[in-house]
Amino acid sequence: MAKSTGRFFGGIEGGGTKFICAVGSSPDDLRAEARFATAGPERTIQETIAFFQEQIGQIGPLAGMGLACFGPIDLNPESPTYGFITSTPKPGWANVDILGGISRGLGMPVAFDTDVNGAALGEWRWGAGQGVNSLIYLTVGTGIGGGALVEGRPVHGLVHPEMGHMLIPHDRDVDPFPGVCPFHADCLEGLATGLAMEKRWGKRAEELPLEHPAWELEAEYLAAGLVNLIMAYSPERIILGGGVMQQVQLFPLIREKVVSKLAGYVDSPAIRKEIDQYIVPAGLGKLAGVLGAIALADTR
Ligand code: ADP
Ligand code: ZN
Repeated sequence: MAKSTGRFFGGIEGGGTKFICAVGSSPDDLRAEARFATAGPERTIQETIAFFQEQIGQIGPLAGMGLACFGPIDLNPESPTYGFITSTPKPGWANVDILGGISRGLGMPVAFDTDVNGAALGEWRWGAGQGVNSLIYLTVGTGIGGGALVEGRPVHGLVHPEMGHMLIPHDRDVDPFPGVCPFHADCLEGLATGLAMEKRWGKRAEELPLEHPAWELEAEYLAAGLVNLIMAYSPERIILGGGVMQQVQLFPLIREKVVSKLAGYVDSPAIRKEIDQYIVPAGLGKLAGVLGAIALADTR
């Protein structure tokens, strides 16, 4: 495959509900963007390739490509199924060679990581994660997923972190809702996704009023998850994104509960005095994923 010399990068956020593709070099320099609903893999890969071929036709070769993809995915370059979506329950998408399909279709290498590691990278470079070297990006939307950057590198490990599936305390006297995770029922995702909120309360999260007890409970679960992440990863910042986090009243509730649950054990000014700058909203909004994919392309 030829190494190209263009100035622009291609980024793909491969999501379970939609694919977002963009060409550019930074948030201020996005040349083109396309989004389409995630259909079957063949059609979606074809649409992705067609978008970039058209762009390349107009502006010439791209300097690199990145794909930040929903998972679980195989991130081990030594593995025969590197670049595959592995065990997803999403119909038609299990064992799909998404990376190979796109890379062969475009005739160029494509950098590859999880959607949330991509978002973490994008936020680190251009958004709410600037100025630190270790951070967590957690999205609370239809599902819950988290990416970790440790000393500036996305964490992979055995497979890749699955922060949404942490097990957290669930007091059934307070909240008898069984949870929605098909694997674990009441893991963090099972209890605290937008979907769990909708099923528990009979209304979509965005329709629940400010004074609804849902928010206190949601903050309780998310705070428990964040405390585990602080203990395990020692991030210098935690960035929260996704549809549910548009409810800004959650932030002070979560911060207060995190401080209280840490109980003074993690002794840092970030927790004691600067919690408002420690647990923060995403800075890149809906573009975090695709910008992260561009950042991935640019760090090869
Ligand atoms: P996805 O997770 O599919 O990428 P989102 O991050 O937008 O997409 O998450 C969708 C979930 O977030 C849904 O469960 C929806 O009810 C919830 N949601 C979307 N907007 C809001 C909002 N303004 N307030 C609370 N919940 C929201
Ligand atoms: Zn789970």
